[in-house]
Amino acid sequence: MSAAVDTLRLTAEDALGLVERREVSPAELHGAYLEAIGERDGELHCYLRTVAEAEGTSIPIALKDVISTRGVETTAGSRILSGYVPVFDSTVAARCKAAGLTLLGKTNTDEFAMGSSTENSAFGPSRNPWDPSRVPGGSGGGTAAAVSAGLAPWGLGSDTGGSIKQPSALCGNVGLRPTYGTVSRYGIVAFASSLDQVGPVAKTVRDVALLYRIIAGRDAADSTTVELPSAVELPSAERLEGLRVGVPRQAMALEAIEPGVRAAFEAALELVEELGAEVGECDLPLSFDYGLPCYYLIAPAEASSNLARYDGVRYGRRSEGESYREMVEGSRDEGFGDEPKRRIMLGTYALSAGYYDAYYGQAQKVRTLIVREHASAFEKFDVLATPTSPTVAFPLGDRTADPLAMYACDLLTIPSCVAGLPGLNVPCGFSEGLPVGLQLIGPQFGENALFRAGHALERALGLDLVPARLRA
Ligand code: GLN
Repeated sequence: MSAAVDTLRLTAEDALGLVERREVSPAELHGAYLEAIGERDGELHCYLRTVAEAEGTSIPIALKDVISTRGVETTAGSRILSGYVPVFDSTVAARCKAAGLTLLGKTNTDEFAMGSSTENSAFGPSRNPWDPSRVPGGSGGGTAAAVSAGLAPWGLGSDTGGSIKQPSALCGNVGLRPTYGTVSRYGIVAFASSLDQVGPVAKTVRDVALLYRIIAGRDAADSTTVELPSAVELPSAERLEGLRVGVPRQAMALEAIEPGVRAAFEAALELVEELGAEVGECDLPLSFDYGLPCYYLIAPAEASSNLARYDGVRYGRRSEGESYREMVEGSRDEGFGDEPKRRIMLGTYALSAGYYDAYYGQAQKVRTLIVREHASAFEKFDVLATPTSPTVAFPLGDRTADPLAMYACDLLTIPSCVAGLPGLNVPCGFSEGLPVGLQLIGPQFGENALFRAGHALERALGLDLVPARLRA
């Protein structure tokens, strides 16, 4: 039975093999993860809730709590949605079910996916399995920490400006933010609709590719989705001849990048060259100067519109009041935490008459320039590479008092998100005993190139990604 299952090391691909060969049943596997959760999640708080029964024919999966699951409470880390039990499945949850995956539970997130540390969750932060005094990143820190701590073989997150890539970097696993429009957003609690994308988190690049294959493709319920122009390829090549890798000069010029992160990134790049790839520099000046401000206008603007629906009437929690107005005001005041309130105010301001052209309109024009700048870089390069996060995991509480310091976590992940492009985090080394991630950016629909490069790098590095303190 499941005595043979070491959830800390088991990849999803190997778990699928165990189930296919009937060496382990789906229920036993589900039970093994629940047992690990029982042992370690008290400390790490990756899960907001777990599901006891394995209803499926395959391996388990963890879903970020912005992903609607029929009959299982979905809160997006917000008090305003507590008690909300969806009556339908999001398309990604339905696709996971159709593939036989069993829902292990819903993972912690910053409230409405707004944040970079999970400290904005209304239900308390998650912790980093490498060092529980540090954050796992965010907003999808729950999923990333769960995968690294052996509390799920894989999971789904959502990424608006880095919420899959950055927590994967800080926890030491692989995360893909897919090309905008390749994965359905139907049933995802909306943050910023022109940026939100769902994507996989797992221990290996191949696992991420396997899960991407399950969730990607056109969905009639989300008009922004398209059919993939080419099938998802499981990477196997160990060499990188013919691959042209561009390193944006302006990204590497950022002083925010810690020396240890820079060193691990540069050593990995040398390895990429040894594997046969051609590495060169490229220029994305606008993207790294204006990407962050552009995002922090567009994302709050869209959030202010999306969050207007939480009125205490239609979903979740309601406050009492003498009048309709008092009830709505009370529900929003008590239901939302500080970060969503901040974004609603910023976004409402940016969209208001008289300021619209100067802020929102201007940000949209800058966005177009960022799209073009990336497109011209991909005329010369197949993929771009930067560190994923400027720093390793930081201590809890370090940035909560300073919203701008928290927003600076996204300096490297945001530009390509604004451009709608896919990005893959691959662990590339350690600094201060904590994982460092390398971000590979591809052109639109360039996921296969990311998988190929990421897989070869992962194999060549051969890192032990089980958190040192959890190794037997
Ligand atoms: N940290 C960014 C933000 O707070 C990105 C979050 C995300 O991708 N959901 O908006």
